[in-house]
Amino acid sequence: MDPDLATVADWIRKSYHVVALTGAGISTESGIPDFRGPQGLWTRNPELEKNAHISNYLTDKKVRVQSWKLRLESPAFSAEPNPAHHALVELERKGHLDTLITQNVDGLHLAAGSSPERLIEIHGTIHEVVCMSCGERAPMEKALVRVKAGEEDPPCRTCGGILKSATISFGQALIPEDIERSQLAAAACDLFLAIGSSLVVYPVAYLPEIALRAGARLVVFNEEATPYDHLADAVLRDRLGEILPRLSEQV
Ligand code: NAD
Repeated sequence: MDPDLATVADWIRKSYHVVALTGAGISTESGIPDFRGPQGLWTRNPELEKNAHISNYLTDKKVRVQSWKLRLESPAFSAEPNPAHHALVELERKGHLDTLITQNVDGLHLAAGSSPERLIEIHGTIHEVVCMSCGERAPMEKALVRVKAGEEDPPCRTCGGILKSATISFGQALIPEDIERSQLAAAACDLFLAIGSSLVVYPVAYLPEIALRAGARLVVFNEEATPYDHLADAVLRDRLGEILPRLSEQV
């Protein structure tokens, strides 16, 4: 039988360095669909996965036009943090969360109040755009105003290059400092919490393995099975918006 929530709370209290990795599953209860869960964007429309590849975005104007259109309709820009995001803020406030690594690009950990210096947004953020030619960054809000005004694929205002959300697409390298910081945190922790991630997107999906090799405990929080379940010290299948607040109360 899997250890229960009280046991996991006890592990958190007794650990010296706790690291959490969150995925799209922590934001589904804020109304942002994940990719691979039962109601996931790609589960329902596998065609959309194409947009997430950088080469398609850079070479195919149709893909860019569709991406901007989807951004206008995306629930991510009006979403609010849910009790699961707040529970991680509470864990940090109690001194039991050293580093929070998120694959999410929605900015909801920051909106909930997680400390920027403890947070690694390893796949970037949708709240900024970046020019693929000159590298200039600007607020997403301004680009969306241009799309609403009729620019289907707004170019960079400085150099005319292609603009993209400041997120890491498939085929794009992660920021070396971010992946290095994440790997160091995983190697130095004694408890690793994998929360709402299908744990199949690499290199982030190596992080639990790095923690396990370094001797840390691993706890997986996910309604569905993940490739790490058989290696985890505990697997908790409840909805994150219910279980994480109960956990942070017990710590
Ligand atoms: P994923 O879609 O591959 O997996 C999400 C997992 O969360 C699934 O295994 C699902 O079973 C689980 N889940 C969903 N809702 C849950 C809930 N309420 N309680 C418990 N479990 C729940 O997501 P991933 O592993 O993060 O990888 C997808 C990639 O897509 C990431 O790189 C991320 O950048 C990106 N993404 C981000 C967002 C966002 O920012 N909110 C949304 C979709 C995709």
